[in-house]
Amino acid sequence: MELVLLSLRWLRDAFSGAMLPPVSEKTLFQKIMNREEPGDILYEDDLCVALRDINPQAPTHVLIVPRNPIPSLDALTEEDESLVGHLFLVAQKVAADEGLTGGYRTVFNNGSDAQQTVAHVHLHLLGGRQMSWPPG
Ligand code: AMP
Repeated sequence: MELVLLSLRWLRDAFSGAMLPPVSEKTLFQKIMNREEPGDILYEDDLCVALRDINPQAPTHVLIVPRNPIPSLDALTEEDESLVGHLFLVAQKVAADEGLTGGYRTVFNNGSDAQQTVAHVHLHLLGGRQMSWPPG
């Protein structure tokens, strides 16, 4: 019986290890933060980095990305509560720096229905044109 349990435990550990990405794998945004990939960084502090989106959907399109590679909005925990507030305050600062006096939009895409494409949570800041509603 003990041998069966040990075997099951071994199988579980081996299988869950196979499902996880290698520990060293960095997200695209981590590589940009580390200057391992090119990126147009506008602002950075201990908690996050703001960079211009490579495929802008508005005259100003900036991504505010926490240094911690949390994969998505769904993966946030209570410990991240102040971090999320910080991302919005950085969005406010970047919007002011970009002269978005007429307003702007902030968006978190979460999951495939929302077309999240980079699994490192990020706040989009869009402005500089008239927006429509509902979004596409
Ligand atoms: P999302 O679809 O919400 O995950 O947003 C990912 C965003 O990252 C998209 O708007 C992309 O245009 C943007 N993006 C992808 N690659 C880069 C890159 N190398 N530098 C800056 N932005 C990027």
